[in-house]
Amino acid sequence: MTYVPVVGLEVHLQLKTASKIFCGCPTTFGAPPNSQVCPVCLGFPGVLPVLNRQVLALGIRVALALTCRISPRIVFHRKNYFYPDLPKSFQISQYDLPLGNDGFVELAERKIRIRRAHLEEDAGKLIHGEDHSLVDFNRTGVPLLEIVTEPDLASPEEAHLYLKTLKGILEYLEVSDCDMEKGSLRCDTNVSLKAAGSAADSLGTKVEVKNLNSFRAVARALAYEIRRQAQVLDEGGRVAQETRLWDDAAGATQAMRSKEYAHDYRYFPEPDLVPFTVSAEEIESVRRALPELPRAKAQRFVSRYGLSLADSKALTASKGTADYYEACVKGQPAKGKGLANWILGELAREMNERNLESIGQLSFPPESLLELLELIDSGRISGKMAKELFAQCLQSGRRPAELAKEKGLSQVADRSILEEAARAVIQEHSQAAADYRTGKGQALMFLVGQLMRRTQGAASPAVSQEILRELLLEEKR
Ligand SMILES: [Zn+2]
Repeated sequence: MTYVPVVGLEVHLQLKTASKIFCGCPTTFGAPPNSQVCPVCLGFPGVLPVLNRQVLALGIRVALALTCRISPRIVFHRKNYFYPDLPKSFQISQYDLPLGNDGFVELAERKIRIRRAHLEEDAGKLIHGEDHSLVDFNRTGVPLLEIVTEPDLASPEEAHLYLKTLKGILEYLEVSDCDMEKGSLRCDTNVSLKAAGSAADSLGTKVEVKNLNSFRAVARALAYEIRRQAQVLDEGGRVAQETRLWDDAAGATQAMRSKEYAHDYRYFPEPDLVPFTVSAEEIESVRRALPELPRAKAQRFVSRYGLSLADSKALTASKGTADYYEACVKGQPAKGKGLANWILGELAREMNERNLESIGQLSFPPESLLELLELIDSGRISGKMAKELFAQCLQSGRRPAELAKEKGLSQVADRSILEEAARAVIQEHSQAAADYRTGKGQALMFLVGQLMRRTQGAASPAVSQEILRELLLEEKR
């Protein structure tokens, strides 16, 4: 039987604040265990949480960028469950009134609906030893925004694209480190299968998958789960509603627990945080402060730099790459297309090969790319040589012009480039060329001077003279 996967994603985003969501403890990553705690985030009796205003502002900023409607009324609930990393035995979260709802993220051709974006506090971290477990409460009370999609995603590839697009938007907003390794961006997914051709609302049994440590892991776990569920259904079995853990090394998911339902958590309004209202003006002021987001930036790149929409989208998908491009093109607007080709070609290829997240990690600053293009455009090096030079710059961390000079590349090792420049000189100075052909020897020296000027001193006088003489005599015949 043929099945259609139905996939939803939940992203937990750590909001970048100096202190926790309900107390003044710092949120610095990597501090010694249990060094950033206080009676509030340890859940001692009688303490009172106070909402960090910055958390609310950052949450609204993200929700607006995802085109969500903002709930003017802010209400927190207690989500009750027992776990050793949760000292209060409840998590303060939002329930029936999330901060934002009904938004969307636009992928290449489709809109992925955002069901809700809500604020909550993080739990602690368990560190498991061989015969014991330790708990670090530094993370308890770190502010999170949970971003939940509708089950709109249709494949592992689309889930991967959604995550990359979302991360791109979040980077532009500068609200989080978005660092999966530090846990500031975490992701769970749920997937079910339905028979191909069945009604849109006839969903199969949903399985949740957790412990996904990279976007690649999300795509792999989904592909595995889709195969596993199809096999269960094909064998006449039923898919159990459960939570499964992804084991990246094994490349498989394993059953963890049966799925809990909302009523298992006994949600009730947090009595220590009084509901309050956010004014329309406050929301508007956050909206006005939103930066230019990837889509708008791509449109601007098309109109300002004359790039194709596809190139513009590729350049603006990550803020780092978009900023890099604009830093390059700022003083050289005529080179817009050439710069884009290099960034999306050689630089992107290198980033892929080295598995780099951002262009800044390449150690090839905008000035270096401009230098490299200048070397090509002035005819001093060929495209092929430029690629070699680029590789050498990455290896040594040095600048192209400096390296080219040292390696003697500026002597124009590639003869065809010099010939091309010489032909152009002859064409531009046809009188001098004619003079030489009719026997005026000193006209050659004039042309040599022109060729050296054109190649900015890169061509040696001897080579220039030799090439010009050859060309002039060739044309004479
Ligand atoms: Zn605290």
